Amino acid sequence: MPIKDYFKILGVAEGADEAAIKKSFRNLAKKYHPDANPNNKEAEEKFKEISEAYEVLTNKEKRSKYEQLKDAQSRGFDFSQYAGKGQGARNAGGQDFSEMFGDIFSGRGGSKAGGFEDLFDMFFDQGPKRGFSQTEYAQEGKGAKGEDVNVRIEIPFALAMEGGETIVKVPRAIDCDRCRGTGAEPGAQVSQCEACHGAGTMQFSQGGFVVNKTCPRCGGKGSTITDYCHQCHGSGESQEIRKIRIHIPEGVKEGEKIRIKNEGNMRSWNKERGDLYVVFKVEKSDTFERRGDDIYFSAQVNMATAILGGHMQVPTPEGNIEIKVPAGIQSGTSIKMTAHGAKNIKTGKKGNFYVKVEVETPKAESEEEKELVRKLAKVKKWEI
Ligand SMILES: [Zn+2]
Ligand SMILES: [Zn+2]
Repeated sequence: MPIKDYFKILGVAEGADEAAIKKSFRNLAKKYHPDANPNNKEAEEKFKEISEAYEVLTNKEKRSKYEQLKDAQSRGFDFSQYAGKGQGARNAGGQDFSEMFGDIFSGRGGSKAGGFEDLFDMFFDQGPKRGFSQTEYAQEGKGAKGEDVNVRIEIPFALAMEGGETIVKVPRAIDCDRCRGTGAEPGAQVSQCEACHGAGTMQFSQGGFVVNKTCPRCGGKGSTITDYCHQCHGSGESQEIRKIRIHIPEGVKEGEKIRIKNEGNMRSWNKERGDLYVVFKVEKSDTFERRGDDIYFSAQVNMATAILGGHMQVPTPEGNIEIKVPAGIQSGTSIKMTAHGAKNIKTGKKGNFYVKVEVETPKAESEEEKELVRKLAKVKKWEI
């Protein structure tokens, strides 16, 4: 992916000042303007090229970045591995790139304002991140890692709290067995793609570069066929269901996911399996309520215990435990039990367990009971 020489395109010396660039551009623009050259494809291309060169070289920021790239190229840096891969290349190779150029670019790779990301976007303006599907990326990078697979599973509240094991059914993309992943019906004529002559990629001019992109006609296969596979209708893809035993981390909560390496998709052009992501959905509990890593439980306390204090048994996800009820507790008060909540799968720390006390008001059924309450009211000077 050699960088275009904008100075040469405008017919000016390297390092030319803005006045010289403007002057040269005006002359060339007059010569190649579409109005002056109706139906002339070559002139049209030339006009686009000089406009682009002019736009970059007369913009201080763009020019500075362009010159940095050009300088990098003259020192032997090969940009070709970054061409035509868009987002994927940035994730996979972007880091090395930015590390190498950390001294040139003010921002580190991926950072905003002046960083690698900006620079990349600028010169890959109509970049491959638009209009290229995930499958095309995969086909383009033959030998790359397979696609990741996501599955969702729903587990009971108690299992999420304790952790454990379960088996998940994972639908994985594999090569169609009828056509062995080619998409061609056995016996069909396979001919070289006319557009890319079998290369699977084509060169496109983009921003300041000539980049290789997946051939739009054959989708990167390099060949076209007369009859598509009757089983997969040309996709070359089939599906298998794998049963995979997974470990459920203790304390996993709704929406959290775990990664299981190398259990994702693998097609014939992949060297390595993608990863499997298992996303958990946790059933609600009738007994407990989880908020973050804290667990809430509502307990009924009789009036005598509320007034005099005492002990009570409460269920927790770890089993029953006895808690102390302080004398004179008010209805609605919560008793906190530190670190008896749910375990956070990232930090390994446990949340708290809260017992929300609800004091039961008894009904006075007999005359004796009523008399006792009246006595208490008299001592307490309650108005009734
Ligand atoms: Zn097939
Ligand atoms: Zn092609």
